[in-house]
Amino acid sequence: MSNCPRCNEVLDAHTPVGHKEGPRRGDFSVCIYCGTALVIDSTNPPTFHILTDEERNHIDKDTLARLEKIKEVRLKMLSEDALFRSRISK
Ligand SMILES: [Zn+2]
Repeated sequence: MSNCPRCNEVLDAHTPVGHKEGPRRGDFSVCIYCGTALVIDSTNPPTFHILTDEERNHIDKDTLARLEKIKEVRLKMLSEDALFRSRISK
């Protein structure tokens, strides 16, 4: 387990996107809690740093589009979850 370097929430699971192998050093990730784009520094134990502007400028277009899509889906999930919770609390 590791913590998000931005929000400090525990990141104890991941879903690889685009390849079958588990997380590898240098892979990108998105914190499910705060939506920050991260880079995996090591896998055992997992550690991350926040994606820098310099790194973002060197990401290929497909990967960058995938990261943005993941952030978009995360926001949609959160808004649907909030809507669901507001409905069941009435
Ligand atoms: Zn976070």
